[in-house]
Amino acid sequence: MIKKLIVGLALMLCADLALAAKTCKLEIEGNDVMKYNLVEMKVAPDCTEVEVTLKHVGKLAKATMGHNWVLSKTADFQAIANAGIAAGLDKDYLPPNDNRIIAHTKVIGGGETTSVTFPVSKLTKGGDYTFFCSFPGHYGLMRGKFIY
Ligand code: ZN
Repeated sequence: MIKKLIVGLALMLCADLALAAKTCKLEIEGNDVMKYNLVEMKVAPDCTEVEVTLKHVGKLAKATMGHNWVLSKTADFQAIANAGIAAGLDKDYLPPNDNRIIAHTKVIGGGETTSVTFPVSKLTKGGDYTFFCSFPGHYGLMRGKFIY
């Protein structure tokens, strides 16, 4: 009897979770003059997952004007970007296995599109987050506030 109840409860919980799952889609563009088209990105409180799509609307190759989209705490982003320079283009200009990186796309060149999906559970409501491009020299211009 109790076992049945527990199984029933677990099923109900699963159903609730499935109903509540919501992937929120955000889009951002990068261009040939080292700019994103957004300075702020916002995730609605009812999202459980975020899908960020980065579109490079320029024409330049990724070795010259590559862009990616990286998310971290604001306190960490400069250190990540600086460590990423040594990692090189093969590693998307990011230090490998760095748990300060919350989410990131690969580096793309003109005309390309890429995306990344991550759970909102990686974020704290009201936390101070920054998105940026880790291509060497880009984060000065290519960064913005990520709000949850
Ligand atoms: Zn860039």
